[in-house]
Amino acid sequence: MTSKPKCRFCRTDLEHTFVDLGMSPPCQTHIEPHQLNHMEPFYPLHAWVCGECFLVQLEEYVAPQAIFSDYAYFSSYSDSWVEHARRYAEAMTSRLGLGTGSKVMEVASNDGYLVQHFVRAGIPCVGIEPAANVAEAAVAKGIPTTVRFFGLQSAREIAEEHGRPDLLLGNNVLAHVPDINDFVSGMKALLGDRGVVTMEFPHLLQLMLHNQFDTIYHEHFSYLSFATVERIFAHHGLVLFDVEEIPTHGGSLRIYARHAEDASKPVSHAVAALKRKEADAGLQRLETYAAFEAQVHETKRAILEFLIGARRAGNRVVGYGAPGKGNTLLNYCGIRTDFLDYTVDRSPHKQGRYTPGTRIPILAPEVIRETRPDYVFILPWNLESEIVSQLDYVREWGCRFVLPIPKVRVVD
Ligand SMILES: [Zn+2]
Repeated sequence: MTSKPKCRFCRTDLEHTFVDLGMSPPCQTHIEPHQLNHMEPFYPLHAWVCGECFLVQLEEYVAPQAIFSDYAYFSSYSDSWVEHARRYAEAMTSRLGLGTGSKVMEVASNDGYLVQHFVRAGIPCVGIEPAANVAEAAVAKGIPTTVRFFGLQSAREIAEEHGRPDLLLGNNVLAHVPDINDFVSGMKALLGDRGVVTMEFPHLLQLMLHNQFDTIYHEHFSYLSFATVERIFAHHGLVLFDVEEIPTHGGSLRIYARHAEDASKPVSHAVAALKRKEADAGLQRLETYAAFEAQVHETKRAILEFLIGARRAGNRVVGYGAPGKGNTLLNYCGIRTDFLDYTVDRSPHKQGRYTPGTRIPILAPEVIRETRPDYVFILPWNLESEIVSQLDYVREWGCRFVLPIPKVRVVD
C-alpha cells in the first residue's frame, strides 16, 4: 500500500484533485525505430492542489535522473527562445550594472543559449546543468559549465569552487524541481550577500485562465502562483522584491529575490498588485481549483470534434512540433496516426523517432512541402507566431493552421 501523497513544500496530505489526465508516458522519451515493438512505461498524470499552501503539484512518479540525465531538449533550436535570452541578458546587465568584475550563474543552463550573452560581454559566468550531453554542447561553445543537480549540497560546493554570484538565475527550472525546499535553500546558500536571484516560470493563473492543461507533464512537478512561490522563498530566508508578467510559455512570471537581510532593495508595488490579481481570480480558494477539471474535459471534446470533422471531410492533418506539452495533449485526447499523419520537428534529435505513447512519426519540417496537407496542427502553441511565419509557404496550396489551446481555432 502506498502512503498518501504529501505536499512537496509544506508536507500537508494532498486530498484535492486539480485535474486527473489519466496515464501518460514520460514526455521526452521519444521512441526509436528499433523500440517500436517494445512496451513503454506509463505513469499517472494526476495533479493535486495542496489545501494548505495551494501548491499545485504532481507526485514524483519518475526519478529525475531518468528524466534529465540525457535530455533531448536543446533550447537553441527555438529562434524566439534565443531572442528572449538575448533581451534578458541585456536588461539584467543594465539593471544590475553587471561588468567584468561581476559573476553570473545559471541553474539548468541547458546548452548555454542564455549564458553565452553574458560570456560575450566579458562577464564571468558558470552554468550549472544536470544533463551531461546538454552540458557538453555548452562547453563546446566556450561556456564554463558544471554538470550537477542543484540543491543545498551542490550549492555549497559551487560556492566553494567558484564563489558567490551577483546574479543567480534559473529560467524554467523551478517547476521541474522535485525537492523544492532543497532547491530554494541551495539558492539561499549560493547567492552573494547583495546578489539577486531571478527566475522565470509559467504562471499558474494563466494555465487556469487559458486551459493550458497540456503544460502538465511528469517533468513539471509544480505549477506555481506568485503567492505560493513567495511563501516558499520566505520560508528559506529570501524575499521577492519585484515581479514581471512576461509572455513566454503562454504567460510566465519573472521574479526577483534577495536575501531577507539585504535592505538595499525595497519591495516594489508590482508585488502587491500581482498578489491582489491572484486573490481576485480566486487563487486563495479551493473551489477555484476544483472547477478546473470540467474545463479540461470540455477542451478535449472540442479538439476531438474538430479533428473528427476534418478527417471525415477527407482533409489531411499533420502535426507541428514534438514538445512535452504535445505529449500530454496527444495522450490525453487519444490522438494517434488516425488523426495526425505525422508531426515534424526542427530538432534533429527528435527526427526519425516517434512520439511517446501515441507513436506518431516525427519527421523533418521539409516533409510538409512534399506532402501538402490541408491542416497543420501546432502543438507548441506558445510559439504560434514563429511557426506560422516559418511555414508561410503552406498557404500556397490553401493549407491552414490549427491551434488547440486555449480553444481549438483555425488560423487562415
Ligand atoms: Zn502545501
